[in-house]
Amino acid sequence: MYKFIQLIFLSLFLLFIHIGAVLAFTNYFSLNLMLIAILLWQLFGTIGISVCYHRELTHRAFKSHPIIRVIHLTLASLAGQAGPILWCTVHRTHHKYSDTEKDIQSTLEGFWKSHLGWLFQQDKRKKMEEFINPPKDLINDPTLVLFQKLFAPLLLMTFIALYYFGGVDMLLWLGCFRLMITLNSTWAINSIGHMYGYRNYETSDLSKNSKLLAMISGGEGFHNNHHKTPTAINMGHKKGEFDLGHCYIRLLIKLNLAK
Ligand SMILES: [Zn+2]
Ligand SMILES: [Zn+2]
Repeated sequence: MYKFIQLIFLSLFLLFIHIGAVLAFTNYFSLNLMLIAILLWQLFGTIGISVCYHRELTHRAFKSHPIIRVIHLTLASLAGQAGPILWCTVHRTHHKYSDTEKDIQSTLEGFWKSHLGWLFQQDKRKKMEEFINPPKDLINDPTLVLFQKLFAPLLLMTFIALYYFGGVDMLLWLGCFRLMITLNSTWAINSIGHMYGYRNYETSDLSKNSKLLAMISGGEGFHNNHHKTPTAINMGHKKGEFDLGHCYIRLLIKLNLAK
């Protein structure tokens, strides 16, 4: 029963985000709010998801100053995808079982299954050893445990604050539309990033590189490069492969805020 309620809640939440994003365009169009939403998408998506959740926490590619890490975790929470422990565990299993039956995000069962269908396969996920006993480095980190608990309340409070202080148009643009593009650009790494594009390396999975996908995901679109060297801070390996997330990490290192 509890699982059923969880799935209904997830479905309603995703419907709300996507319908809200359409309504923002059709009934509440605002160029200024659209540009702010795009800016926040890049900020939360690149720094929160790509730099923090993905490169620092999942792959331990670098280590940031504790205060910077808390700021990053806050941005990642506001990207509305999952708490850090769950997000990193899901992604580690993706690398461990890439494009096999055990990879819940695999494109083997089609585009939509890898894009967002996997979100509804919680039963399959919960039977996996990785989710029964999540990685020790994640669950033994009190900051990550705290943010895993704070994720949902923080997101909910953001939506309430947007509505309360900004009204319906701000809720639709900075809540729904922003989250819709953040979620879909990350999901696209699992779907498009394993289906369309070029390969620099003959890895054992189906990962691909796409400059367009990299442009909208802070560098994550160079997914074949990433599968080749998951613990590297840079995802752009060749000339013309621009990686915004990598530039940001380089800046942190220069400022002695990461190593
Ligand atoms: Zn992948
Ligand atoms: Zn990865």
